[in-house]
Amino acid sequence: MTRTTATTDVAIVGAGPAGLMLAHLLQRAGIDSVAIDIRSREEIENTHRAGILEQDSVRLLVESGVSDRVLCDGYRHAGIDLAFGGGGHRIDFEALVGASVQLYPQTDVFVDLADARARDGGDVRFGVGEVSVADITGDRPRMRFTDADGVRHEVAARILVGSDGSRSICRHEFPESLRRQFFREYPFAWFGILCEAPPSSEELIYSHSERGFALISQRTETLQRMYFQCDPAEDVAAWSDDRVWEELQARVGANGYVLEEGPITSKVVLPFRSFVQEPMRHGNLVLAGDAAHTVPPTGAKGLNLALADVRVLAEELELHLRGDEGALDRYAERALQRVWKAQHFSYWMTTMLHRLPEASDFDVRRQVGELTSLVTSTAGSTYLAEGYTGWPS
Ligand SMILES: Cc1cc2nc3c(=O)[nH]c(=O)nc-3n(C[C@H](O)[C@H](O)[C@H](O)COP(=O)(O)OP(=O)(O)OC[C@H]3O[C@@H](n4cnc5c(N)ncnc54)[C@H](O)[C@@H]3O)c2cc1C
Repeated sequence: MTRTTATTDVAIVGAGPAGLMLAHLLQRAGIDSVAIDIRSREEIENTHRAGILEQDSVRLLVESGVSDRVLCDGYRHAGIDLAFGGGGHRIDFEALVGASVQLYPQTDVFVDLADARARDGGDVRFGVGEVSVADITGDRPRMRFTDADGVRHEVAARILVGSDGSRSICRHEFPESLRRQFFREYPFAWFGILCEAPPSSEELIYSHSERGFALISQRTETLQRMYFQCDPAEDVAAWSDDRVWEELQARVGANGYVLEEGPITSKVVLPFRSFVQEPMRHGNLVLAGDAAHTVPPTGAKGLNLALADVRVLAEELELHLRGDEGALDRYAERALQRVWKAQHFSYWMTTMLHRLPEASDFDVRRQVGELTSLVTSTAGSTYLAEGYTGWPS
């Protein structure tokens, strides 16, 4: 088996949004990187995930020269509907905090980032295998992998970044005695669909009901994304299109909404949990994005947190490579402050809107009381609007 070796400044494990955005920002600062991913570009492009970008995520994509498309092909949302107790209540972000979010699918964010890397001659290797890292506390940490032709490669770098998502191998390189992992499991999941239908509403509807939570989201004029709370062990095969529509219509119908229906092109069960690993740096290995933390998707924070991490990481890496010894620890501290705020926000949105399996009538009425307090209080609504549109960096 042939073996090639190369050197670079920063070796990046995982070329999702965090890894590719980091590589892009580093290149703008004159720093070389090599990024690898175990999946092919096509596979990542066709994995449907997040859809809501905070205002700072949009700004980062536009101002760093990754995407203009996000402004013309994306849809500006200046609020959301909170639906409960028989009706809808709009949270007007624009009026409350002078901000909005952008509906722009993660698949498009990825395409824009991968195109930018190709345009700028960035070194990104998709579809690699047998990935490992070594010497993470030494001066020359290494990333090893096999390409699609079976050739082994080794890249020696000054810093390794683990942006390899929620099943990260990099985070396991942190010695058990030095790492802390914080978990919260939830006794429910989301049943997600993509359907070919016109939008049922202009903005997202977060719907609480006695049958459980539903989220009505959009993608384009002809493609929509919707979810309803389900058991984590739910069998997708047991859900015909008719049954899915009946359930979704019942959940939002309780609050006065009617959905536009159409053929369902994808059905998937998405288990979710909250997770953080601390610290986010050990030796010359740092973590970014889902590799270090995951959130339940209710607050639309996962992708935004990944982008926020690497915005800070690019700044601190530049200082580190110029000799500032405190820079990597500063990255971890700065990133974790936002991570824990987002953990709380996502947990709060999740527990306020979902029905626990053992929920009593009291619990459901209490949730309606909380939601009513929120929509009838400028302070409460402003708190939600600030968190949803994204705290200033
Ligand atoms: C099904 C699903 C639905 C979601 N829905 C939402 C949503 O509605 N809203 C929201 O805000 N967030 C959502 N999220 C979360 C959001 O998609 C993530 O937070 C975001 O993708 C994080 O970006 P990342 O770059 O850190 O990780 P990822 O996007 O996971 O990228 C990590 C990359 O690393 C690669 N990789 C993994 N292991 C290795 C390895 N050993 N070697 C090399 N490469 C490796 C993977 O192939 C992947 O491309 C969802 C996540 C999932 C899984």
